[in-house]
Amino acid sequence: MKFFHHPGFAAPIGRHMVPVAKPALVAAAVVKVLPQIEIVEPDPVGIEDLCRVHLPKYVEAVRTGNPRSLAESQRFPWSPELFGSVCLTSGGVLAAARQSLEDGASAALANGFHHASSDHGEGYCTFNGLVVALEALRAERKISTAAVLDLDLHYGNGTALLAATRPWLRALSIYGNDYWMNRSYMDVRARYHVDGPNHLSVPLVPTKGGDRDNMLEILEDWLPWLVAEGRPDVILYQAGVDLLREDPFSPLDLGPEDLLERDRIVFEFAKREGIPIAWTLAGGCAPDIGKVVEAHLNTAMACSGVFAK
Ligand SMILES: [Zn+2]
Repeated sequence: MKFFHHPGFAAPIGRHMVPVAKPALVAAAVVKVLPQIEIVEPDPVGIEDLCRVHLPKYVEAVRTGNPRSLAESQRFPWSPELFGSVCLTSGGVLAAARQSLEDGASAALANGFHHASSDHGEGYCTFNGLVVALEALRAERKISTAAVLDLDLHYGNGTALLAATRPWLRALSIYGNDYWMNRSYMDVRARYHVDGPNHLSVPLVPTKGGDRDNMLEILEDWLPWLVAEGRPDVILYQAGVDLLREDPFSPLDLGPEDLLERDRIVFEFAKREGIPIAWTLAGGCAPDIGKVVEAHLNTAMACSGVFAK
């Protein structure tokens, strides 16, 4: 099995609540604990790949830093290194998606950046690597349909907006924090979404003592929706770990063992259905980075365990 990581994933954004060192720490943990997994450096995507999803004006703003308000719409300071870094993270998702078509499963040890939409960034997400990767695979004629399964704590609003104009894509977001117009809503009952025929949002309302069972039940109930109109050619899985109870945004009482069970269910589903799956790290901001890395490593172990069988 091959996972993709590049030291250039980390953009120099200074001290920030988004842990930019995380992908390198997860890659090091995978090397140590799962030596059977080969870590490979991906190539960056090019401007043509980005422009299948994002407006040229926005891509140019991120490349040059002008206009600055647009280049920083994802809410961190622009630097000349930012563009190269986000081309590499999208390249990682593309490489993992392509590899999963060969091996059944793969991973990009990068974020999928699900808040980014066509003309701007949001929520620390510059380019939507998930849809950039899928559009590139369609251009290569390697896939014609795809699904995004988003189990990050936050609603994948950017992916939903991009799915709305792409009938070949099915996007399911099961979330414990809503997200809209660069704002996070910890109470998932505060807003109401208009879903579309191919993009669906399912909130996780906190339950006293029942968050694990509720999450797993909702997941089992809605996974079949991904294949309701035929099997997609690939699934991209945003395996966020910001649902952990230690995360500053999480209203849910969930531990690493609960997310490990979630991951097992997802990988068993993909294997049973015979659909290639590539996963990304997605969110995770708990103050103890060790806990975040442990939870991401669990996803790697679940993936390796299910697909090595
Ligand atoms: Zn998140």
